[in-house]
Amino acid sequence: MSRAIYPGSFDPVTFGHIDIIKRSSEMFDEVLVGVLNNHAKHPLFSVEERKQMLEVTTKEYKNVSIISFDGLLIDYMKQNNISVIVRGLRAITDFDYELQIAQSNRKVSKETIDTVFLTTSIDYAYLSSSIVREYASYGTDVSDFVPQFVVEKLKNRFR
Ligand code: ADP
Repeated sequence: MSRAIYPGSFDPVTFGHIDIIKRSSEMFDEVLVGVLNNHAKHPLFSVEERKQMLEVTTKEYKNVSIISFDGLLIDYMKQNNISVIVRGLRAITDFDYELQIAQSNRKVSKETIDTVFLTTSIDYAYLSSSIVREYASYGTDVSDFVPQFVVEKLKNRFR
């Protein structure tokens, strides 16, 4: 059985993320979306809130589940028998960083882990969680970027 993990901050989940989740759910038997509990970052939403937004907005994809983890991704993967990482690539600016992470993960895991990159759909190439947070903080309508459930969460947060 093929199990993949799609890790990220998802602060908050956008249509760009959901597109990658949908497409990877068609490629693997099981996809775990891993919300990174990164103490170094100061997220807008807590891990529990980010998980809830992902759960609500991806519930139609039956082989997708939402988890959170802290510590090293590859340790979580080893413990849970997952061998593939899914990442989305938007632009060439993502590439340098992603290549470095993918290669070091492969090295550190003794070549038991691989990374699969899905290129963004053209509709979402410009989209990032930070742009969404920025617009929402000024009260701008973000319903083209995130599902309605997330729109409401953002409205409450910036009220
Ligand atoms: P991180 O903080 O790890 O970059 P993000 O939540 O910003 O996490 O993104 C998680 C993953 O989703 C990354 O692989 C990122 O490149 C990808 N991603 C983010 N936005 C988009 C988008 N609009 N289209 C496709 N992939 C995206």
